[in-house]
Amino acid sequence: MTNNDALKRPLRDLRISVTDRCNFRCRYCMPREIFGPDHHFLSRRELLTFEEITRLAKIFHTLGVRKIRLTGGEPLLRKDLEVLVRMLATAMPKVDLALTTNGSLLAKKARALKDAGLDRVTISLDALDDNIFRAMTDTDISVEDVLTSICAAEEVGLTPIKINMVVKRGVNEGEILPMARYFRGTGHILRFIEFMDVGSTNQWENEDVVPAREIIETIHREFPLEPLEANYHGEVANRWQYRDGAGEIGLITSVTQPFCGDCTRIRLSAVGELFTCLFASSGQDVRELLRGGATDAELTAFIRALWSHRADRYSELRQEKHQYRQEKVEMSYIGG
Ligand code: SAM
Ligand code: SF4
Ligand code: SF4
Repeated sequence: MTNNDALKRPLRDLRISVTDRCNFRCRYCMPREIFGPDHHFLSRRELLTFEEITRLAKIFHTLGVRKIRLTGGEPLLRKDLEVLVRMLATAMPKVDLALTTNGSLLAKKARALKDAGLDRVTISLDALDDNIFRAMTDTDISVEDVLTSICAAEEVGLTPIKINMVVKRGVNEGEILPMARYFRGTGHILRFIEFMDVGSTNQWENEDVVPAREIIETIHREFPLEPLEANYHGEVANRWQYRDGAGEIGLITSVTQPFCGDCTRIRLSAVGELFTCLFASSGQDVRELLRGGATDAELTAFIRALWSHRADRYSELRQEKHQYRQEKVEMSYIGG
């Protein structure tokens, strides 16, 4: 039985947010004025346990999920994350298991995560220049710390490594070329992400977005590029390779070239709500069902029904209606 949504999209990817906390205050995600000392973060009791997460993930797997990504907030702030990785990898050995992290705590954890069964990591890095990095991420962690984590991940084989760079007009666009130069030829895949209007606290304006087309042209002038085919149906990154064989880059063009038609993702928040779109205004609670004694069959039926009604296509609507807005949940909460 196929599990397509209302727009005929299959369910393939599950993103699990394991915490809403973060040790960075990226201006585009958790601005310090909003996420300050008085901000109420989730308590431990509210979070799904590793057992609950694994049980749900297995159900998603039976419904078609082939890729699972752990995220947050900063997922490595969740204590003993490698224990969850081991539980997931043991329960679903064939699933592609990845982690997105800001890289601040990865150097120490890379070996344990790999040994537990993690396949790959994506590490966020918005600049090589420390001042620009700080302007984007508002943290005291240095670029050097993140680069050390990238090396550690490579050493233990959490590869291929993807590097996520959010590009914001007037802040770090001057880092596009230095980042391209630095990561060319390393085997790591640098991915440029258009600044998105996720949540409602990051003061997003269309003028802050550097269109993917412009990023490609900037790099192409120094290092000629050519387009590549998508690896698989539903891949979000637009892929390009260096003509001289120095590897590939990706562009996440959520604003200028929306890819909702191929979106096969569902998100599970740290408290057990399901979101069928990154820009959703509300989620569906599964924690209550889990804690209320629902059987696997009941959980399966709930998720199947949720997915079959899914008609989200926010980014396409934003483009069609220009300046389309709706109330949205924060990315650090829903899981990026
Ligand atoms: N804390 C981890 C990290 O930063 O890698 C994982 C969670 S973070 C929400 C996941 C990804 O979302 C990061 O690569 C981050 O740069 C990206 N992101 C966050 N806010 C964004 C925004 N407004 N526009 C585009 N990408 C964003
Ligand atoms: Fe934290 Fe990641 Fe959001 Fe930056 S993007 S504030 S590192 S959750
Ligand atoms: Fe998927 Fe929603 Fe993003 Fe469209 S806007 S690609 S439906 S998460």
